Amino acid sequence: MEKLSDRDKKHLWHPLTQHKTHSEMLAISKAKGVLLFDEEGKEYIDGISSWYTCMYGHCHPFILERVGNQMQRLDQVVFSGFTHEPAVKLSEELIKILPANQEKLFFSDNGSTATEIGIKMALQYHFNQGEKRNVLLAFEEGFHGDTFGAMSVSGLSVYNGPFEDFFIEVDRIPVPTQDNIESALAQLEIKLKNNNIAGFIYEPLVQGAAAMKIHDADGLDRILALLKNHGVLTVADEVMTGFGKTGKHFASDHLDTKPDIMCLSKALTAGLVPMGLTTCTQEVYQAFYSDDISKGLFHGHTYTANPLACTAALAAVELLQTEEIQENIQNIIQWHKVFDSEIKDHPKVAQTRQLGVIYALDLDIQMERYGNLRDKLFKHFMDEGVFLRPLGNTIYILAPYVTTEIQMNKIYDTIKSALEIV
Ligand SMILES: *Cc1c(COP(=O)(O)O)cnc(C)c1O
Repeated sequence: MEKLSDRDKKHLWHPLTQHKTHSEMLAISKAKGVLLFDEEGKEYIDGISSWYTCMYGHCHPFILERVGNQMQRLDQVVFSGFTHEPAVKLSEELIKILPANQEKLFFSDNGSTATEIGIKMALQYHFNQGEKRNVLLAFEEGFHGDTFGAMSVSGLSVYNGPFEDFFIEVDRIPVPTQDNIESALAQLEIKLKNNNIAGFIYEPLVQGAAAMKIHDADGLDRILALLKNHGVLTVADEVMTGFGKTGKHFASDHLDTKPDIMCLSKALTAGLVPMGLTTCTQEVYQAFYSDDISKGLFHGHTYTANPLACTAALAAVELLQTEEIQENIQNIIQWHKVFDSEIKDHPKVAQTRQLGVIYALDLDIQMERYGNLRDKLFKHFMDEGVFLRPLGNTIYILAPYVTTEIQMNKIYDTIKSALEIV
């Protein structure tokens, strides 16, 4: 039998990949809990929860059972004109844990569509009220997805060159620090004078794709409050930060000013099936509620609120709130702190940061985002049986909540030994 990685080359085109220079793809044949197993049976600790999706571990039996049962009953149905128990029940359960001002849920099928819909809600909200606001505000180095609206607001458009001429209009502000906040607010006041900013999209507290950069909560709160005073809708992209990663259910829970709109995906369905969700306040919803049909939000995806995805999400929301998972989250936070105290003064470590179970360290060397040294690091981790995916010179850990102390120590040891080879 030909190897999977060889058969793969014939017809497959992978995401974020330059195939001419990329080495062959690693074939994963199964996953269980924290572990991935390749074709040859070698195991890897999934130190980034497969892009922060399977936070409760892979193939969690509780989630599999729930989705398996649902599969026997109802697989898929149109969500325009129809509804079903998994979607209704999920809305009831999510509303209990979302920030208190969130009232309405709009489903889609991935993180980019969740933000795309958030952007469209913000634009149409003003349009429906006869106000012309055609600019979006976003953070420098933000990442919100790869569809056109999402790409436009992403400051971190590493290879978006061919598309930039087609982007929607976006104004950018730096993330708040204790040093820049006064001048940032002053500059923002000037921008707001034009009265043309419809919405502000932001990754609250942690910018994932920008290499887990963490910014100042007080500063963000002040920015959000100022924007709200000027009628700008705030759109929290919690696709990465949602569902426990920051130590609270949502990053917005660390802030006083709650968003008008929230975007969720990734861990929403525990990594089992794709789903996106855009939530909003009653006030936002009200701007679309009208006898005039054209004021509705005419956006829909075929798989909107797929019953299996809703069931996975329901099971995940239940798991998140168990004592066991909440305890594990606190344990990981403590283990990271101990690791940090051991490593932060290492001569090859420039900076470290942590929020909740998200831990990142910057190496004290210049490195290309997809360069050779980055590849060498990646290979070292994989050889050691730990799947970590360095972003440039940043190594970050975002392991499943079910990672044991022994497994976490293995991740830490592999990072320590990596410092010796760079
Ligand atoms: C991953 C991510 C997205 C895009 O989600 P996809 O499902 O990959 O389209 C958007 N925003 C943030 C913050 C993300 O981390």
